[in-house]
Amino acid sequence: MGDLPTDSGGTDRKSPVKLPIAGKRNILITSALPYVNNVPHLGNIIGCVLSADVFARYCRLRGYNAIYVCGTDEYGTATETKALEENCTPKQICDKYHAIHKQVYDWFNISFDEFGRTSTPQQTEVCQAIFKKLMENHWLSENTMQQLYCDTCQRFLADRLVEGICPTPGCNYDSARGDQCEKCGKLLNPTELQDPRCKVCRNTPRIRDTNHLFLELPLLKDKLVEYINSMSVAGSWSQNAIQATNAWLKEGLKHRCITRDLKWGVPVPHERFRDKVFYVWFDAPIGYVSITSCYTSEWEKWWKNPENVELYQFMGKDNVPFHTVSTCFWAAGAAGASPAAAGASPAAAGASPAAAGAVAAKEESPSICSTFRSPTTSLSPLFASEISPLEREITGNGSNLLQVMFPSTLLGTGENWTLMKTISVTEYLNYEAGKFSKSKGVGVFGNDAKDTNIPVEVWRYYLLTNRPEVSDTLFTWADLQAKLNSELLANLGNFINRVLSFIAKDPESESGRGSGYNYIIPEASGAEEHLLTKTLGDKVGSYVEQYVEAMEKVKMKQGLKTAMSISGEGNAYLQESQFWKLYKEDQPSCSIVMKTSVGLVYLLACLLEPFIPSFSVEVLNQLNLPAETRFSLSDENGDIERAKRPWEILPAGHTIGTPMPLFKELKDEEVEFFKQKFAGSQADRKDKAEAEATKIAEQLKRTKVSDGKGKKERPAKSATEAKPKASAEAEISMSRLDIRVGLITKVEKHPDADSLYKEEIDVGEAAPRTVISGLVNHIPIEEMQNRKVCVLCNLKPATMRGIKSHAMVLAASSSDHTKVELVDPPEAAALGERVTVAGFEGKPDDVLNPKKKVWETLCPDLHTDKDLVACYKNLPFTTSAGVCKVSSISNGSIR
Ligand SMILES: [Zn+2]
Ligand SMILES: [Zn+2]
Repeated sequence: MGDLPTDSGGTDRKSPVKLPIAGKRNILITSALPYVNNVPHLGNIIGCVLSADVFARYCRLRGYNAIYVCGTDEYGTATETKALEENCTPKQICDKYHAIHKQVYDWFNISFDEFGRTSTPQQTEVCQAIFKKLMENHWLSENTMQQLYCDTCQRFLADRLVEGICPTPGCNYDSARGDQCEKCGKLLNPTELQDPRCKVCRNTPRIRDTNHLFLELPLLKDKLVEYINSMSVAGSWSQNAIQATNAWLKEGLKHRCITRDLKWGVPVPHERFRDKVFYVWFDAPIGYVSITSCYTSEWEKWWKNPENVELYQFMGKDNVPFHTVSTCFWAAGAAGASPAAAGASPAAAGASPAAAGAVAAKEESPSICSTFRSPTTSLSPLFASEISPLEREITGNGSNLLQVMFPSTLLGTGENWTLMKTISVTEYLNYEAGKFSKSKGVGVFGNDAKDTNIPVEVWRYYLLTNRPEVSDTLFTWADLQAKLNSELLANLGNFINRVLSFIAKDPESESGRGSGYNYIIPEASGAEEHLLTKTLGDKVGSYVEQYVEAMEKVKMKQGLKTAMSISGEGNAYLQESQFWKLYKEDQPSCSIVMKTSVGLVYLLACLLEPFIPSFSVEVLNQLNLPAETRFSLSDENGDIERAKRPWEILPAGHTIGTPMPLFKELKDEEVEFFKQKFAGSQADRKDKAEAEATKIAEQLKRTKVSDGKGKKERPAKSATEAKPKASAEAEISMSRLDIRVGLITKVEKHPDADSLYKEEIDVGEAAPRTVISGLVNHIPIEEMQNRKVCVLCNLKPATMRGIKSHAMVLAASSSDHTKVELVDPPEAAALGERVTVAGFEGKPDDVLNPKKKVWETLCPDLHTDKDLVACYKNLPFTTSAGVCKVSSISNGSIR
């Protein structure tokens, strides 16, 4: 704190790789790996990445040697199925959503040291090495199971890849999925379907034997109990974590299948299992290790160093790395089932007698093999289908995975792994009346938060004050408003602004009215003897100690509350001192009050940095301290001692910057607007917006016909444009553009203009369109011919030098406009298919209304990013075959 060191701190990705240092606290932090095929919602964000980020930032503040590792979990059926549905490769799905996750977390200022992914060669390497050790140590067994197999596709079918007639009497839905009927909601087993079909080729699958490998958890029990007994004390696990673990040791410790008949995963390195991959529950947690190995080749110094490294793992109850599983699990109403109760949940019991039978069969024969031998057990039909109800139970609560499964895997290797010391599991964050739901699209999603224009520090603050640490909490817009207006604005923002504004005043000037310090922090001699100030110092000192105590125990809400109390003390101190009077009556005392208060401002920025880093950066800016200033709260630097003497924190004579309000009030009408905007599900919202758009389109058509008369009928335009009803009408977003993949079938120079090409472009319609483009000076004609391009198809046709142009070819230009390149769809993209951006897939306008300047308004948000991907507001242009790119212009604009 005192020395204001100016290196870049721990959050810069370019900072040197950190390795454990002898004699220091070395802390390895992970948060649950988000599953890759969805956009995270606020419940997920608070549940894992944000909580872990606060702790990581806190550790860096304290001078601990900490790294924070996370990434997207990419393997498994859900990705493979989604890829089949969208007619692209799993890799392409993962690329798309990995980028979206990354953007959301970047916006939330999540300070990963490494944000990776599980579909890497490093993952394969680490996973296979662990598997080989488990095999050498005889912890694996083999069993035969039966599963639906499609002869045409030559593969075993995951539940979701089977379709048939729903067996529920009266339902008869003919496209019920193997895991659940979407019409009546019943959880199913694929064999229950009448007339089952392979979803890919439509042929009838047959039941076939398949061999799988199992991890023998019961045999690892002793090692596991020993680990849990010692770590739960050392890491002060919460009571509910210990209870859940014990319940699992008693009831859940069965042998668990670790292989799957899938292609998208880590291949099993064994001759007889060559066409199988590891099951997600086995491979996903290994992602923590492999992502660290992407961070540094010396990853073992972090992961095989239990004497010197403490492992902290963060996980949201809702954000288990198995959204494949949780989607249907939670949707079935079994949400929140504790591990002990899971056996009785509808998912595991009622719906599926076959699975229950499988459990019994398995318990009878916990066969272990030292070498692989022929199967001894034939299980009840179909236990092994990808998301069987039993396995929903296994993976339904992520903490079991970290408390039981993952440690078992590592213990089984017999190697000296760094095992989890502390686990932080959050409960649910509910949204208004219901639950945040990815599958149903209920709530506010990571990418929505940005679009509200509510700054990130407000989002972070609100989510953290509402962190569901011991029980579920509720997100409401009214509560967000209250916290912003009363805590951030009236308490924190007000304190800082009062102090800085008073210091900034020029006593000579008229507006200064004879008081102020003209931006210069005054001397404060005698502060120790100033009673009010001394008392404040003592209080602040004890608050800082409480803050540290809470944060060490990962009680973040408590830490945040304590930091905010200091701001409250500051306000009371200002009030009691009556500094505005003091300035005239007792100037030395006024200087003490001001120097002490500005020290508190700095201290607050420091204590709040883990929670709201963007706020702290702004405070530094207003204090006129270098942007690289690193906050520190370490014991070694005596920072905590210094906090008791806030008048010593900043030096006299320092010139501060320009004070500005730090927070903006959220008004009632804005709250109402957001409530409406985010009401219902995403799908509802889309439908609503589309219905609204259609209505407006109709209205406009009528207006056109009736001409002058119609103008009166139109609703008056006013400042209330942001009102709910007008929002769909006013919203100009990417979804209104009809961009398609086109093929230039013919190109020639425009007969009457040197700089223009005349092209014929096939955009998937009966006839190609004639398009005029001003690209002659940038793209040679031979590069135009037979090229796939992105074409904006709903611009109003315009005549250019006598020839009508019926679309526009999209190109990117460098910032100085010297270079222009075409935006290229992937070669495999289908002709005529729409180019979309995630979250903006609504129906495009028939024709973009030139008067509304839809295209002109959107243009500034179209750009290429540093990876050369064409984007709308940082979200990639996407086709079924992947994202659209340019060849060399990064951060260019697209037109
Ligand atoms: Zn049904
Ligand atoms: Zn098939």
